[in-house]
Amino acid sequence: MKPVRIVGGGLTGILAAFQAHRLGARQIELHERLDRLGGVALPKLENGREMREGCIYFGPEGDPIRTLLEEHGAIFEDFDNRFGSVSPGAYGPVYLDDFGGPALPATKTDLQPLSGNSLGDRLDCYEDALAFPLARYVRWHVGCAPSKLHADAAIPLAINRVFPTGIPLDTLSASKRADGHANELFGIPRSMWNYSSNVQASLPVGGFTSLIDKCREALDAIGVEVNERSLARPNKLLSEIAPDEVLVWAASPMPLFKAVGLEAPKAPAKKFATYTFEVDWTGAKPFYVQNFTTDGSCFRVYIYESRGATLLTAECVAETESDELAKDIRFLLDGFEGELKICDQLYRSIKPRWLYHTVDTVNKLGELRTALGARLGDNFVAGAWEAYAKGAKFAEVEADLQKAFGVRMIAKAS
Ligand SMILES: Cc1cc2nc3c(=O)[nH]c(=O)nc-3n(C[C@H](O)[C@H](O)[C@H](O)COP(=O)(O)OP(=O)(O)OC[C@H]3O[C@@H](n4cnc5c(N)ncnc54)[C@H](O)[C@@H]3O)c2cc1C
Repeated sequence: MKPVRIVGGGLTGILAAFQAHRLGARQIELHERLDRLGGVALPKLENGREMREGCIYFGPEGDPIRTLLEEHGAIFEDFDNRFGSVSPGAYGPVYLDDFGGPALPATKTDLQPLSGNSLGDRLDCYEDALAFPLARYVRWHVGCAPSKLHADAAIPLAINRVFPTGIPLDTLSASKRADGHANELFGIPRSMWNYSSNVQASLPVGGFTSLIDKCREALDAIGVEVNERSLARPNKLLSEIAPDEVLVWAASPMPLFKAVGLEAPKAPAKKFATYTFEVDWTGAKPFYVQNFTTDGSCFRVYIYESRGATLLTAECVAETESDELAKDIRFLLDGFEGELKICDQLYRSIKPRWLYHTVDTVNKLGELRTALGARLGDNFVAGAWEAYAKGAKFAEVEADLQKAFGVRMIAKAS
């Protein structure tokens, strides 16, 4: 069985090690540049409490990622998956329970066909009454025109499905059932049409810190050689990799461009601000609300529990003064059941996010894959660089590993 070298010890790299082991690999090395595994899924701790910078969670029992992690000792607890959104309306904000996307007034279910791969092309499928406020939201959130971004940026922006208000539910659901394009672009709050697949979700017992610790133990137990504080240098690595060795690059692909003589895409300049507060909240927990109004600066609030405390993370499009931020948070939660008291601010971070890819980035990542494929063949596995959601990353890495090992199907986790 081929040896495997994995670069990057975030969730993708950890899962790739478990997946490679499941496929039969027994000589697996994992290299992480920092002194701990976990990547963006590992929150900073304040007095033992997790300062989560986004609302990452897992699916209910049977979710393939959860199943694989459970096989390696992780324990999950289910919760009622509660969320909502606030959208701009003609007479003020529209609060919607059970729907995490925008709700905008529309008159028809007709859609234009998709004419290209940019987010602008995707928005052009809608009538103007939907396309214009969505474009305004994209500019507010990411700071650039939708035409610059790849269409898949709709997912991290939470605008992959829009609820067109004003259309009778029967008409809308019939259109979703009959037409794949409409199903892809329109959504309906789950309680309005008995959609139940995301009613339950799960989080690791003891939080993400405990999950990563469990993974670290499990990697040792199955004989994976974990190297922390081990920064992989592309030039050196590509020159020393053995012909039969599988290389999984589950880290930022940016340094690879120079190593293969390609021009790298521009790194995102825009920075996002994240604040975590201790709060009293009488409503549902965990709970998140997405903001599509473009009012204020907060695009999402997430309320969760960590070590007996209730915490609220506010993700913002820019740095925000505390009085303004408190106003934004109250505005977003105003339309939902629950009383909020904001206590101490515990954490603040300001940084760019590798989430909203431009068309140029996605094109250049394609060229990079081709160049590395030409050099290493099927033994090169890109760590699903473009995908946003863990599930999509997991499926892509699994398919590429199967190809590297010449396996067509792997046994389903029991
Ligand atoms: C704010 C935020 C919110 C999110 N929300 C969701 C969500 O709700 N649902 C969902 O499914 N997904 C969500 N995601 C995406 C999800 O978190 C990611 O898919 C997943 O955690 C990313 O894991 P990763 O291992 O691919 O990358 P990372 O976690 O970034 O890991 C990469 C690792 O590689 C290391 N590294 C980098 N360069 C090198 C090198 N040269 N040598 C060695 N090591 C290196 C880094 O230190 C890091 O540990 C979110 C992401 C963010 C940032």
